[in-house]
Amino acid sequence: MSVAGLCTVCGNQGAEYTCDRCGSLVCDRHYEPSVGFCVECAGEVSGGRNQDTQPDGTDTYQF
Ligand SMILES: [Zn+2]
Ligand SMILES: [Zn+2]
Repeated sequence: MSVAGLCTVCGNQGAEYTCDRCGSLVCDRHYEPSVGFCVECAGEVSGGRNQDTQPDGTDTYQF
């Protein structure tokens, strides 16, 4: 097992950043340097308007 760093979000190697909130290791593509969080945490703390866990009624595709 290498500790090179796999991005928790995309699973790619080269993750060099650690989320200051959840502690996840993420690559620069999934790290928000402005807040120091991973993109998931950054999305939660900064409004979190489009979360995967809770789809809003905006995307309605029902019968
Ligand atoms: Zn990534
Ligand atoms: Zn995080």
